[in-house]
Amino acid sequence: MLNLNLTRLIDDAKCYETVRQLRWEAGVCCPKCSSVQVIKRGKDDTQPDRQRYQCKDCGTHFDDLTDTIFAGHHQPLRAWILCLYLMGLNLSNRQIAQELELDDDDVHAMTTQLRQGIVGGKPEVQLAGEVECDEVYVTAGHKGNPEAVRKKGDKDGATASKGFGVGAPWQKRNRRFSA
Ligand SMILES: [Zn+2]
Repeated sequence: MLNLNLTRLIDDAKCYETVRQLRWEAGVCCPKCSSVQVIKRGKDDTQPDRQRYQCKDCGTHFDDLTDTIFAGHHQPLRAWILCLYLMGLNLSNRQIAQELELDDDDVHAMTTQLRQGIVGGKPEVQLAGEVECDEVYVTAGHKGNPEAVRKKGDKDGATASKGFGVGAPWQKRNRRFSA
């Protein structure tokens, strides 16, 4: 069996690009006042693909990950996105740890935070809010019932496709992403 490491197959640049597309489909807007009068303010000091911005209306500084469940972590963005993806496939923490070559403890902390990102609220943040909806629905609501998940996905396609869904909506996005 080939020993492939997923985190070496995708890069942070594409992950940041994907996050930007998902959270700001109609262009970057200020997380505080929703203004679209936003200027770029260089890249993050330690993560060269992470764009910084400043709102011209209220002066707020923010970046690609501000107010999302991906903000404030030391693991690279690709590790979090892959973790979310693997959670959507119903892998256990241990399996995810093996796939990403991380410690079980680290992965436990990551999956806990990803789930809490939802329950904890931040309802104003679409990216964080919708992850929870999809997570709860797909893994708890229809575990082992792919037909029901597909129906739900079709019915709520318009809403789900804007989010960073775990499960069907995410896979849909992912296919488009790799095409
Ligand atoms: Zn603003």
